[in-house]
Amino acid sequence: MINGSNGNHVKVLILGSGPAGLSAALYAARAELAPLVLMGTQLGGQAALTYIIENYPGFPKGVGGAELGELFQKQAEHFGARMEFDTATAVDLSQRPFKVTTEMGEYLADTLIITTGASPVHLNVPGEDAFLGRGVSYCATCDGAFFKDKRVVVVGGGDSALEEGLFLTRYATSVTIVHRRNQLRAGAILQKRARENPKIQFIWNTVVTEIMGQEKVEAVRLKNVETGEETIFETDGVFIFIGHTPNSQLFQGQLQMDERGYIVVDHLMQTSVPGVFAAGEVADPHFRQVVTSAGMGAAAAIQATRFLQTQSN
Ligand code: NAP
Repeated sequence: MINGSNGNHVKVLILGSGPAGLSAALYAARAELAPLVLMGTQLGGQAALTYIIENYPGFPKGVGGAELGELFQKQAEHFGARMEFDTATAVDLSQRPFKVTTEMGEYLADTLIITTGASPVHLNVPGEDAFLGRGVSYCATCDGAFFKDKRVVVVGGGDSALEEGLFLTRYATSVTIVHRRNQLRAGAILQKRARENPKIQFIWNTVVTEIMGQEKVEAVRLKNVETGEETIFETDGVFIFIGHTPNSQLFQGQLQMDERGYIVVDHLMQTSVPGVFAAGEVADPHFRQVVTSAGMGAAAAIQATRFLQTQSN
């Protein structure tokens, strides 16, 4: 028997292995609760897909996203956290211990920390699904190298679009950012870098209405939202960064959520069910930074520890 757990019955079960989940694991491990992390499909979460993270404190020259995820993992494991490459498929939060069914088995958990993150929003235009992996991508770090000496279109005007667009200039001959307004949402530093990069051009007030090609992407149909004018724009790739949607479907009907599906938590990371906590992007439509997600994860674990103490008194 592991301290803090008994077979498949654990004191703290963490769903997700992004900055929130792995920070929660570190804190729960240091509280000697032997947390179990179901890592899901992406160790390190979305942050691990980022080429370089320049705004996580402690790394003056930046740190690779995947490297940071591995460091988080090692640190949590060093203090006794367990990690499983497994994904929850159903949860029953109607009574404690909570029951979590996974692809590989079943767990009982005295407390649950949900850090399942968020997934990229799709444009929902013709051709988007058909050309996924054949020119359509939601991750420049993953797929950028396939576009060496090619032309790419980036959709969106936020931090992700600009950061990923700048990354793509390493490979592509041209990066055309298509934004539906004439003002960017991204922060000032990224805006300056993008505007100064000779490989980047902008098409304003414009949306992509279709992704076209034979075997792979060859062009996009663009529509100017002010004039209604449509044009065909040749490109080899389309990278889509138009926001994220929380991965909270599994908890629908069991936890309080807002109208967009973000799990509602109080300042102690407590959800509407006592003993269930949520942290990181699944519960945060506002900040969505590595550092804020890590902070929420730590807070959730501290509060889960206190919750378990009140239960045993
Ligand atoms: P975001 O800030 O929500 O930006 C999404 C962009 O996509 C916006 O420009 C939006 O246009 C556009 N958009 C949304 N739906 C669209 C549609 N259907 N068709 C065309 N365009 C559409 O998302 P994000 O860039 O992924 O960033 C999310 C969060 O992560 C933010 O808080 C951001 O600060 C943070 N982040 C930070 C960094 C960093 O600090 N280095 C890096 C990446 C992300 P409108 O502007 O017109 O709404």
